[in-house]
Parts: sequence; structure tokens; C-alpha cells
Amino acid sequence: MERPHNFSAGPCILPLEVFEKASQSVIDLDGSGLSILEISHRSSAFVEVIEKARSLALEQLNLNNKGYKALFMQGGASMQFLMTAYNLLQKKAGYLDTGTWSANAIKEARNFGEIEVIASSKDSNYTYIPKNYTIPEGLDYLHCTSNNTIFGTQMKSFPHLKETPLVCDMSSDIFSRNIDFSQFDLIYAGAQKNMGPAGATLIVVKEEILGKVSRNIPSMMNYELFIKKKSMFNTPPVFSVYVSMLTLEWLARNGGVSAMEKKNQAKADLIYSEIDRNSLFEGFTAKEDRSMMNATFTLKNKVLTPKFDELWKSANINGLNGHRSVGGYRASMYNALSIESVKVLVDVMKHFEKTI
Ligand SMILES: *Cc1c(COP(=O)(O)O)cnc(C)c1O
Repeated sequence: MERPHNFSAGPCILPLEVFEKASQSVIDLDGSGLSILEISHRSSAFVEVIEKARSLALEQLNLNNKGYKALFMQGGASMQFLMTAYNLLQKKAGYLDTGTWSANAIKEARNFGEIEVIASSKDSNYTYIPKNYTIPEGLDYLHCTSNNTIFGTQMKSFPHLKETPLVCDMSSDIFSRNIDFSQFDLIYAGAQKNMGPAGATLIVVKEEILGKVSRNIPSMMNYELFIKKKSMFNTPPVFSVYVSMLTLEWLARNGGVSAMEKKNQAKADLIYSEIDRNSLFEGFTAKEDRSMMNATFTLKNKVLTPKFDELWKSANINGLNGHRSVGGYRASMYNALSIESVKVLVDVMKHFEKTI
């Protein structure tokens, strides 16, 4: 059977060779006769895996030897909404409210101190990225979301801050484009959108920003403790870390984030030019803020929905429905999605216009 063209927003497509190697290792990890699922997380085989994953993550972000540590933790990106505040918020932090995930991060952080929403696009159902805001001095940190998975907007540039640490939820576009990652002091990303299966969350943190809050931080929430224990305070999500390592190796073999960016840009250009050209569709967001990862669009005439749905489903396309808060369609085009899949979708859109 041919694999479907998988545009799912997350969990999402990963490279086929990663799926193949992972499934082999469920039976026999590298000729050891043991499954990745049954070995001790303290075994040298797994310690090697998690150390490799941590170092590959830093390497791919070009953050080696710059004072950063990479950690794998559990609880998803949603756990990071509160952990960032637990570890960094003493008095007051600033947040950019650019989508549902930002709003959730704000809600959780409010448990720990004062939150100032610096800018928000909520009034227009998050169709754009706010610009031209002023950031007050003296914030403990500023939090942003680089890619708004649900709405399909992406930050193209980030605030330049002198003293204030910059924290970024990069769950849905980490490793997808080449930016200066050293402008961030803490990056977090749930694995299941561009890196691996659900279960692990990557945190990349500049050590010097830690240890500044006066509250007691419980062990499972404590970045400093996880750094000290090399991400092995307790049993890590072994399989998710393993598959993330395989994906990071695949990334390194295939030219790293610069090569991914080229490929992702080509895919995005292809889909957005069809959305703009095709008389039946319109994009959901402001053009200048369009996401390379998640393209959101709608049918101008909603009556055509069942017909279009039937057409793309019969073309072996999966996961194209938009999030319930947006409606319409969302083509998620993470690193492992081939440009051929995007061509299939574009052909379906063209064909639909001709036959309607
Ligand atoms: C999916 C997503 C989340 C939530 O991730 P979980 O791992 O399910 O908690 C948070 N932020 C962004 C940007 C996302 O895309």
C-alpha cells in the first residue's frame, strides 16, 4: 500500500527511514538482542542514545559551547508553560499573545507572578503577528511562540532585548529554518511536531539565566537539577528520546536546518501560490506572517466543503482538516513531508477548480 500524504499537524510525519529503524529497534537494538523498550535507562546503550540526542540538538541549533544545555523532559510543551515560570518568574514577565498556545502559556504563568501581555492579535482571531510594540524594562523574561500551529502564522523576526532573557515555544518549527538561535535564552519544543513521537520535550537553556528565583522548585520541575542529572533524574521517555535521536541523525545527514529551510520554503511557496491563484480558496492569515510549517486556508464558498473533502481524501491525503477554532484546512508541512505530497495537494486544488 502506498503511504498517504500526511499533512497532520501533530503528531506528524517523520522520515520513513526513522520509522523503519525505530521498528527494528523495538525488536533488537543494534544487534544486542534486546528491545529499546526493555533495556535499562541506565544502561550504557541508552545513556549513549540520550547523550547523542542532547548533543545533536545543540549542534543542529549551532549552540555548542555557548553556555547552553539540552534536556529531554516529559509533560509536553504544555508542562513547559508552567515550568518556565516556575524557574524564571520572580516578579513580572512579558508575553506575546499570538495564538491558543501563547494564551495557554500566559494562563499557566499567572500562577507564579505578574504577567504583562505586551501585544496580542486575539481581537482578529490571531490572523497576524503583532508588530511595533514596546517592551518595558525590568521583566524577568519575555515569552514568545515562534510558530502558531493552529492559526498558521510564524514570527519572521524576534524582539531584540538587551538584558531581558528571551524564552520561546518552538514546538512546531524547531529545526525547520536557520535563524540565530543564540538570541534565545530558553527554547522548548514538544517532540511530536518536527522531531519525534509524543512523550519527550526538548528544552535548550542558557545556564546563566537559572537559579535567580527565590521560591523552592520541586525536583521534577527543576531545570538545574535536570542539568545536573544529565536529563536522567528519573526514567526519561526512552522510546521518544530514541526516535528523536534518529530524526536528529537524519537531519544531520541531510544538510541540517539550512537544507530543511530551503526545502520547507519551496513547499510553502508552492502551496501559498496556489491558495492565492485559485479562485475557490483564500488564505486565513496576513500574507507577511504566513507560516512555512502550517498553511491555513478556507473555501470561499462553504457549500463546496463536502465535495472538496471527498476529492482530497480520494487522492490519499491525510490530516488536512483545520483546527476546530479556525475551520477550513491546514496543510502542515514539517521537515519529513516531501514536496511531492504538496504537489499532489496543489493538483487536487487545481483539478477541483476546473471541475466545479
Ligand atoms: C502542539 C503545541 C503545543 C502543545 O504541545 P503538547 O506537547 O501537546 O503539550 C504547545 N505549543 C505549540 C506551539 C504547539 O504547536
